[in-house]
Amino acid sequence: MKIVFDDKFNNSEYSTDPAAAKGRLDGIMEIVNKNKKLYEVITPVPAKDEDVLRAHTIRHLERISMDGLLFELSALAAGASITAAVEAYKGNPSFAVIRPPGHHASSDSCWGFCFFNNISISLLRLFYEGKIKSAFVLDFDLHTGDGNINILEKRGDGFRVSILNPHSIGRSDYIREVKAYMESLKDADIFAASAGFDQGIDDWGNLLYPEDYTELGRLMKVYSEKICSGRRYALLEGGYNHEAVAMNFDAFCQGFN
Ligand SMILES: [Zn+2]
Repeated sequence: MKIVFDDKFNNSEYSTDPAAAKGRLDGIMEIVNKNKKLYEVITPVPAKDEDVLRAHTIRHLERISMDGLLFELSALAAGASITAAVEAYKGNPSFAVIRPPGHHASSDSCWGFCFFNNISISLLRLFYEGKIKSAFVLDFDLHTGDGNINILEKRGDGFRVSILNPHSIGRSDYIREVKAYMESLKDADIFAASAGFDQGIDDWGNLLYPEDYTELGRLMKVYSEKICSGRRYALLEGGYNHEAVAMNFDAFCQGFN
């Protein structure tokens, strides 16, 4: 599978929040670089203003662009998300290992370590190119992706997006909830995951084990193959125990690929 990554994401100076913590992506990329049979790394180009503006107001873009480094990394993370979406559309499962994350960014505001909404920017690019008319977003981050919901649900342009933020309290109920939702999906032209690992054991949420992430990845694979020729991609959101993030990322990819 394709891993979209750029060394610039290792720069931890863009913010002082936990998503920007030094070394946070090191464990993931160590695993990626050790397993060349499974993972192929491709590098992104930054999103253009017109890409960002499909999801955000000019005012929001201008606010972020006042901080040069923050803007550079946010535009690159959005660009990497577009690359992942384009690869997925071509039939290559892909995962963008990026920061800053995006699911708490709404069109004119942001919080929770997020600045540009990566999922929305990437899906809207495919929609506006006429490639997709609908999408399914599984957001398995510990926190509800309010930005995804605000931007993607109830749109006026005909783009239809179903979003699931599972909220079951037990592990097996959580997996059952995801499976039942996918089973009920009628159509979606692509599957995207807001892949936060902060719901993991040893992380903030302390709920999901590595095998649960493998199962989430497997469900994304099985149901995308059933509904949309296997078109699927994932974007990194939260996850703050650096060792657990790496392990759970790898576990997810084992099922997802
Ligand atoms: Zn989170």
